[in-house]
Amino acid sequence: MWLIKLKNNIYNFSIDELKSYFLNIDEKTFRAEQIWNWLYVKGISNLKEINNISNNLLRKIICKYEIPKLKVKKYLHSKDGTKKWLLSLGDGKEIETVYIPEKNRGTVCVSSQVGCTLSCSFCHTGTMKYLRNLAMSEIIGQIIFVKNELDDWRKNSDERKVTNIVFMGMGEPFYNYDNVLKSISVLTNEKGLAFSKRKITLSTSGVVPKILNFKEDSDVNLAVSLHAAFDDVRNDLVPINKKWPIKILLNALKDYSVRRRNKRITFEYIMLDGVNDSLVDAKELIKLIKPFRAKINLIPFNPWPGSKYKVSSSKKINEFKKYILEKGQIVATVRTPRGNDVLAACGQLNSI
Ligand code: SF4
Repeated sequence: MWLIKLKNNIYNFSIDELKSYFLNIDEKTFRAEQIWNWLYVKGISNLKEINNISNNLLRKIICKYEIPKLKVKKYLHSKDGTKKWLLSLGDGKEIETVYIPEKNRGTVCVSSQVGCTLSCSFCHTGTMKYLRNLAMSEIIGQIIFVKNELDDWRKNSDERKVTNIVFMGMGEPFYNYDNVLKSISVLTNEKGLAFSKRKITLSTSGVVPKILNFKEDSDVNLAVSLHAAFDDVRNDLVPINKKWPIKILLNALKDYSVRRRNKRITFEYIMLDGVNDSLVDAKELIKLIKPFRAKINLIPFNPWPGSKYKVSSSKKINEFKKYILEKGQIVATVRTPRGNDVLAACGQLNSI
């Protein structure tokens, strides 16, 4: 019987794991740093491109590791410059990744799961069946993919097109906690991609036990999908609220704030016509958020086929924002919808 030896996707390994590999084959650990540089600074797409390692050692590395690529199933380009890719994973499952260019920065919105278990009623991804968590290589792979597409390797930091990462694509990142955190440590490794921790934001729907872990484990930015100031409304919009209601969520965030005093929490609040956009909602929201070093990001709802909600009027959104700013003295911004003509905006991702 033939035994087929499968190679390992090299993006699944941390630098320490690569160092252990070299130690195990009686090589010096600086070899791991050489490989790391080729992968994450030069952005090679084939291990054969490595030219500062002996042929003998390179053969061993190529026998053990490979650089698989995410395949494009569909590509859409918004008139505002936003790009969205439907990417096929090794097992044929599909995810979406979005790139949003702005004046002084470029943000990649990454997915952390195929589908989502949480069924938030305003979110297109929530209508998809949850299939599985993404491996670290599939999370890192999305950023590598976008950098390849934009020819964004070997650039000075002020020339880079990908500067920010948000975990706001498909899935609840805290339900894929280990792979997401491991990916963040690769993204921020100074000898590789070297993203600043201030430029990475993880968004959660409110998985309380993981917020408590996260406060110890990571100091990238935290965003919380609050979306309602009253439990009965939030139960409908973000059903995980039935498990961890607003009071319990805010208690966990108080613990987070004590541990991460230098961090400002972003509260995301989707603006839905007649659902959560009254001044009574705004007043309650101020009461909830006031104890925090926080900002509120108001997100005009982005419709998708079959969605039951309508976006609040611009007048309502501006009144809501003004009330929070003036009565609450809390920073509130309105997110400009990006890529909504190609269903690439917040809450619109779906692999159909
Ligand atoms: S908003 Fe986030 S957590 Fe809720 S269904 Fe959509 S992807 Fe899942």
